[in-house]
Amino acid sequence: MKMSLTADLHTHTDVSRHGYSTVYENIMGAKAAGLSYVGISNHGPALEDGAPEDHFRNLRVIPEMVEGIRVYRGAELNITDFHGSLDLSEDTIKNRLDYTIASFHEDVISPGTRADHTNAYLAAAASPLVDIIGHSGTAGYSYDYERVIPEFKRHGKLVEINEATFHVRKSSVDNCKRIAKLCMAYEVPVIVNSDAHFCRLVGIFNQALAMLQSINFPRELIINADGERLERWMQKRKSEREKGL
Ligand SMILES: [Zn+2]
Ligand SMILES: [Zn+2]
Repeated sequence: MKMSLTADLHTHTDVSRHGYSTVYENIMGAKAAGLSYVGISNHGPALEDGAPEDHFRNLRVIPEMVEGIRVYRGAELNITDFHGSLDLSEDTIKNRLDYTIASFHEDVISPGTRADHTNAYLAAAASPLVDIIGHSGTAGYSYDYERVIPEFKRHGKLVEINEATFHVRKSSVDNCKRIAKLCMAYEVPVIVNSDAHFCRLVGIFNQALAMLQSINFPRELIINADGERLERWMQKRKSEREKGL
């Protein structure tokens, strides 16, 4: 059975030098791929080529609906230390964004020990400022999957299955599969995202979906397989964040 998805919440734009399309082009890319929702999630400012804080604060000028596509305002935050610190202010995250992804990037923080990564992810799981755990299969940042993945679920966070991993982080593929299998075992919801840095790659998830299908991953656990499910999750996270959860 061919699986199709309705949203892509991890896309980058040319606010970074290493992104090559505009916000509008990403929206049109989502439309061309048959999606109903797209999220704009540029890198936070701790990355040298990340976007400055005012990029995120002003995302609210983008209408919620553009060309028939629901646009969510997001950020790919950098985890900047092993206590799970993040690189945008609480005010920006809480009052200007619809969601955040938290990820490790080597240009921001060099890999530590497995215990260091475990502690950082436990903090991200518990943080009201984090909604999605980004490409956590990244080789070099392995963590105690069995311990942490149930914590992502307990705190209502989504585990990302990242298409770009299969193209640019190939050494992470085995970890991704292991993480997906554990999500299946613990019934942890995942989100499949492109991590596109070019508009024609928005909404393209072929390898991530093939991997999930190869392990018979249930469609019900993929949040962006269903628009209403995604919207419910967004609403729930919004109210949880307001309560500091
Ligand atoms: Zn990333
Ligand atoms: Zn990214």
